[in-house]
Amino acid sequence: MNTKYIFVTGGVTSSLGKGIISASLAKLLQDAGFSVTIQKLDPYINVDPGTLNPYEHGECYVTSDGAETDLDLGHYERFLGITTSQANNITTGKIYQTVINKERHGDYLGKTVQVIPHITDEIKRCIKLLGTKNKYDIVITEIGGTVGDIESLPYIESVRQLKWEMGPHNVLVVHLTLVPFLSATGELKTKPTQHSVKSLLETGVQPDILVLRTEKELPPEVRKKVALFCNVEPEAVIQSIDVPTIYDVPLKMQEEKFDLVVKRKLGLRDKKEPDMKEWRAFVNRLKNPKRTVKIALVGKYVELKDAYKSIIESLAHAGAVHECKVDLHCLHSEKINKDTVHNMLREMHGIIVAPGFGERGIEGKIIAVKYARENNIPFFGICLGMQCAVIEFARNVLGFKDAHSTEIDSNTKHPVIDLMESQKNITDKGGTMRLGSYTCLLKKNSKVYKAYGKTEISERHRHRFEFNNEYLDFFEKAGMIPTGINPDNKLVEIIEIPSHRWFVGVQFHPEYQSTALKPHPLFVDFVRAAIQYDVDNKK
Ligand code: GLN
Repeated sequence: MNTKYIFVTGGVTSSLGKGIISASLAKLLQDAGFSVTIQKLDPYINVDPGTLNPYEHGECYVTSDGAETDLDLGHYERFLGITTSQANNITTGKIYQTVINKERHGDYLGKTVQVIPHITDEIKRCIKLLGTKNKYDIVITEIGGTVGDIESLPYIESVRQLKWEMGPHNVLVVHLTLVPFLSATGELKTKPTQHSVKSLLETGVQPDILVLRTEKELPPEVRKKVALFCNVEPEAVIQSIDVPTIYDVPLKMQEEKFDLVVKRKLGLRDKKEPDMKEWRAFVNRLKNPKRTVKIALVGKYVELKDAYKSIIESLAHAGAVHECKVDLHCLHSEKINKDTVHNMLREMHGIIVAPGFGERGIEGKIIAVKYARENNIPFFGICLGMQCAVIEFARNVLGFKDAHSTEIDSNTKHPVIDLMESQKNITDKGGTMRLGSYTCLLKKNSKVYKAYGKTEISERHRHRFEFNNEYLDFFEKAGMIPTGINPDNKLVEIIEIPSHRWFVGVQFHPEYQSTALKPHPLFVDFVRAAIQYDVDNKK
């Protein structure tokens, strides 16, 4: 079968959830037996989001092959249980970089290099590459931004060309818009949708399917009106109503027969009976918790929840395993100090210290670690969070009062966290951290070994600094043990305090590998420990 291409564009406003709609459609197609992948095209000029502050664009998601990508790739992996790669996230920066490199190389000798055809050809190459190289049945391509933006024009033009080249049975355009509800008049308004379809039409693209975000049920006459004015089949107007959890969206989309319309238009015959059984069971567990635990997520970007997207979702997956609602308290590390820490953390059943960079908020994180360690509250440190746990232990248990990471204090007498040897000559910031998947060996009899149930694991990384092995003896003697080691370079990947009920710090990012149907063992075990802590406290 030829690979089929589905494009998802957005209109009216940003943040309508194109990523979730794309992932939901992909899930339904996957459930019918098709191999599906999703790709995100981002219109910004950065080569990748790795150098962006999380306040700008949310979390930076890291793929197994070490690409720093848009957070939507996290949704794709969490919904589909697939691994994405470098090729699943294309930016304008990457496209131009390739074209300019080719121009310098002389590939276009004699020609004027232009947006059309050179930039659009490169965009089309990147889109088709996923289909041809990995032989997926279906490639869904989500186009970032909103139609009408100057930046997305070359992408929309590429979609127009591909549809013309491959024909309507091979290419579909899904357009996601908003139908706002005006409470003053009690009306649902379709005009913004009509305008955004018009601006898509101006670029020569007629959407095949419209997905309408709405907070109220759309009556049949509203759907009919949209269909008529936007020139789509009435069945191709799909309602996407607000739901309590993003994991409900695939089920809602199935009720709306979104997948059936797509399959009919592309001439696709199911390869297996779709049932969404496992997914439904997961959503049921998620939505009907039997208990609650309070977990603190200590970080410095907490104003923007998207900055910790994968951690938040991993906790939801783990909670569902235990039929437990994770009541998440995102706490600003800059607000935590010796005087506030008790009030901020005393009700928590588990404390996570988040990844991050730089000095801001670091002392608050270290104080939070101390509180968790001294009060025997389950603690999970991720990347910088693990490094904070090491610094805290060095300062307060080993007595190295000025211990620090050289990222923050390059003159510390006790650099317990130090720049990796391989990073010492690197000056460029983009894509130069230790990125992607590496193997780690676990010590038997450790908490992490019990959680994973095996000795060899592979986890994703994004860091420049590491545990300084010159201090290893001090730590081991005082009760902080390395329980996960990289077999090739001996880098400490995991630390634990065995005398504590659950104190685990990991240099890697387990949150990138947790999926709805395959929750990550460390998050599952951490939530279990938090539940146990609550039970023990009530005795
Ligand atoms: N800033 C730390 C480092 O570079 C931790 C990075 C992170 O938390 N992702 O090592």
